[in-house]
Amino acid sequence: MKTFGYAAQDAASPLAPFHFERKDAGPQDVVIDILYCGVCHSDIHQARNEWNNSNYPMVPGHEIVGKVSFVGSEVQKFRVGDLGGIGCMLDSCRECANCKDGEEQFCEKGATFTYNGFYADGSPTYGGYSKQIVVHQDFALKISEKLDLAATAPLLCAGITTYSPLHHWKVGPGQRVGVVGLGGLGHMGLKFAHALGAHVTQFTTSPGKEADARRLGADEVVNTRVEGALENLAPFDFILDTVAAPHDINALLRLLRRDGTLALVGVPEVPLSLESFAVVSGRRSVSGSLIGGIRETQEMLDFCAEKGIVSDIELIPVQKINEAYERTIKSDVKYRFVIDMNTL
Ligand code: NAP
Ligand code: ZN
Ligand code: ZN
Repeated sequence: MKTFGYAAQDAASPLAPFHFERKDAGPQDVVIDILYCGVCHSDIHQARNEWNNSNYPMVPGHEIVGKVSFVGSEVQKFRVGDLGGIGCMLDSCRECANCKDGEEQFCEKGATFTYNGFYADGSPTYGGYSKQIVVHQDFALKISEKLDLAATAPLLCAGITTYSPLHHWKVGPGQRVGVVGLGGLGHMGLKFAHALGAHVTQFTTSPGKEADARRLGADEVVNTRVEGALENLAPFDFILDTVAAPHDINALLRLLRRDGTLALVGVPEVPLSLESFAVVSGRRSVSGSLIGGIRETQEMLDFCAEKGIVSDIELIPVQKINEAYERTIKSDVKYRFVIDMNTL
């Protein structure tokens, strides 16, 4: 199937228009005409090879919503004209223990990631900064007609990546939760932690985001760049760290109560340093979480439809993608760029 989009040709060049071939839809596949695609910081890390695992040409984008325009002969889940969503995965082995547990993101054979990945036959995957995409029906998500569609797109990565750890670590009423970094992931983590009934403290390096943080559900806001700001805070049960750049996790760990957990979802390009005393004192844990499985992603989308939760977005034409990358790196986005794919 011939289609086109925006691609990085190497780690240094700006993204530019790109015509390419996708695999044809099989009997279990659906084709989605993409309407909106969110811009995740992972797109930037990978387009610029900051994780040293990039394949080019690369069409980024894994926060995809659109309309189903074709269904294969064996597809039951969708009809032409339905809304459909795709997150970070197009497929997985379905057979390993993790897949069977609905944790396809940890597939032992490696999930087929939506871009910068490979199908079982070795051909590359291309993501959502494009007109159309093909996906197995089992990895396409049902999207509610009730929510603003452009603002729904970021739920497919920023949403599930923050929802999943909050559930895994059973965040709820009576708990003190910290969210670190108010960007695409952070603002969704804040909304979810608040919706789950926790007392939420938003940690930020941007003084200008305080009022927004309160509007989004923060009970307290702490500017980590202010001298002494982390002193005398009441102990936290759980901290969700969404920061995309190198930063001090030891200062955050010391805020945890005994047996508390800091879960990393941010993936800075360089390793973080861990002070042993910050974890041995208080038997604290550092953990991490990667997106979420398909079943949990659908659960999160249904939860959002029920509660009216979407992302706060800035809608951009695809021609502004390189500018959007620069602004995201400067933490200057409120709070997720979403590409209007009609502009392609
Ligand atoms: P983003 O929109 O750029 O948000 C990151 C936020 O981190 C910024 O808005 C900023 O918030 C804060 N920050 C930036 N530089 C900082 C620094 N030097 N020190 C402290 N805080 C800083 O990025 P995103 O799309 O939310 O993604 C965040 C990270 O998660 C990226 O590394 C991305 O690759 C990763 N990610 C992981 C998964 C997963 O499955 N684990 C999924 C998606 C994304 P303030 O202005 O409030 O300080
Ligand atoms: Zn992402
Ligand atoms: Zn598997």
